[in-house]
Amino acid sequence: IVFLNATKIDFDSNLDFSSLRDLGILTNYVESNDKEILERVQDQNIVITKEIPLGKELIEQFPPSVKLICEAGTGFNNIDLEAAANKGIAVCNVPGYSTEGVAQLAITYILNFASSMIKQQRMIQQDNYSNFTEYLKVPHFEVQEKYLGIIGAGTIGMQVIKTARALGMNVLTYDPTPRQFEDSKIQAVTLEELLQKSDFISLHCPLTAGTRHIINKDTLKLMKPTAFIINTSRGPLINETDLIEALQNGVIAGAGLDVQDPEPPSLDNPLFKMDNAVLTPHIGWRCIESRQRLVELLSKNIEAFAN
Ligand code: NAD
Repeated sequence: IVFLNATKIDFDSNLDFSSLRDLGILTNYVESNDKEILERVQDQNIVITKEIPLGKELIEQFPPSVKLICEAGTGFNNIDLEAAANKGIAVCNVPGYSTEGVAQLAITYILNFASSMIKQQRMIQQDNYSNFTEYLKVPHFEVQEKYLGIIGAGTIGMQVIKTARALGMNVLTYDPTPRQFEDSKIQAVTLEELLQKSDFISLHCPLTAGTRHIINKDTLKLMKPTAFIINTSRGPLINETDLIEALQNGVIAGAGLDVQDPEPPSLDNPLFKMDNAVLTPHIGWRCIESRQRLVELLSKNIEAFAN
């Protein structure tokens, strides 16, 4: 068993890795190119990867010993499933290990925008608390009765909805998988209606050919100028150039982005300096509890496959 990019989950930390170590996995090597990856997978049966792109050409060169590719995460858009299937390699992911952490981050973004917390803190840093009337001018409103649009009402989306309902928010969902909600404050609507009515929109669908750039110039134009977009799912769900333009021209009020396209963003990306954009470096999955859960579930996946 080889674990590619294990460093990403902080293999040398104080997390309990005994379940993986019992399976014989102990690694702190960082692969930087396809050639190194191919060297590392020689004679291996199981390849675990943390977000390393395993494209068609690379998988086609995998040795016949490889029987399973295991994504150490929920999103598996980095793996060419067709190429794996053609080689008879099974692929599995780890769904659900970070549901609470990602949902918590999406809610944190909502509450931050409602209270302008980061903006107010920046103002205090700039003027040493001396301009109180200026602080009153930044938006500060209650989230109760506001509309939250959830694109992708799956595992994480539903967890966000649970908290949003506890905060008194109304929820609109868009998901091609039909869902029934007993709570009358949660409504399944069309994407268009969700975009037009929501005060906050949070993305929780996977990145696929059908969802790439689901947020673009045209869909941004349908949003309210007072609305915020939050992306804790995958960067390419949003056309970043269109988003930057929309933020600069007041088409929407703000964006909270845990994921970007590409990652990491280039240093001259205008989002870094924009007052109405808040960025985190893809931390949704990274709570200490989630990472411990990830280790346990990875071991269980491998054991189940071996059995
Ligand atoms: P899930 O499979 O349980 O839910 C995804 C939902 O999206 C499903 O209900 C599906 O029907 C829906 N969907 C599919 N296509 C859609 C479309 N075109 N429009 C609207 N909805 C669509 O997955 P999950 O566990 O909730 O995770 C969601 C995503 O979150 C993952 O794919 C991953 O990319 C991302 N994620 C990010 C982090 C992070 O660190 N920021 C961590 C974990 C997961």
